[in-house]
Amino acid sequence: MRLTVLGAGPAYTDRIGATGACYLVSDGATHIVLDLGQGSLPRLFAAIPPTDLAAVAISHLHPDHYIDLVPLRHYLRYEHEPPRRVRVLGPAGLADRLDALHDEPGFSAQALDTEVLGTGERVIGSLRLRAGLVRHTAESYAMRVAPAGGGPGLVYSGDCGRAADLGPLIEPGDTLLTEVSFGPGPIPDGVAHLDGPSVAGIAGSSGVGRVLLTHLQMGFDPDETEASVRAGYDGPVSFVWPGSVLDL
Ligand SMILES: [Zn+2]
Repeated sequence: MRLTVLGAGPAYTDRIGATGACYLVSDGATHIVLDLGQGSLPRLFAAIPPTDLAAVAISHLHPDHYIDLVPLRHYLRYEHEPPRRVRVLGPAGLADRLDALHDEPGFSAQALDTEVLGTGERVIGSLRLRAGLVRHTAESYAMRVAPAGGGPGLVYSGDCGRAADLGPLIEPGDTLLTEVSFGPGPIPDGVAHLDGPSVAGIAGSSGVGRVLLTHLQMGFDPDETEASVRAGYDGPVSFVWPGSVLDL
């Protein structure tokens, strides 16, 4: 199983080249992309033809995690005759959000087969996808992707305001790809995101084999952030950036 990082940014940032959340998980010919934030689609083209996607899985309905479904829809609709389609899993109301952006009922359905992600388990091609609810928006998911036949998986936090919510998804030896929006911390009161110490807590208690950090907000230092995770977790810790490719 291979992780290709296509976008690792937060909602906004001054970091050059930063685009919204987008993580491509591949196993042989099966490709699932986790989130499709702003600026992701051109980078997806650089990795695979978007029509090769078995599914797009959207963690929650903040635009930095799903807004490039709009250009994906246009590409599928206008670059192919007949139009091509892609399966999209996400929170309830996703298709309505996309339709509202264009003020056009059925806009999304012309190219995207959307279904509610939910907390059940699905086998998609040679991959197994399971999601769990996390504190962030009213319906926000973290997801675990693993080979359908078993083996270590990748747990992606999405945006998450309570690290313990990731626990039920994690199996020992998994790679944890997690947001660390507030760097070394602290997290302001009432804000549903994570910082380094909260990541270290769940990583240390859940037996993950490796921690990959992402979604760092503007103004925080990556090195200080990594150090804040290492202070509470003994395993490997590193940021991922667009272009990072890791075999899991
Ligand atoms: Zn969010």
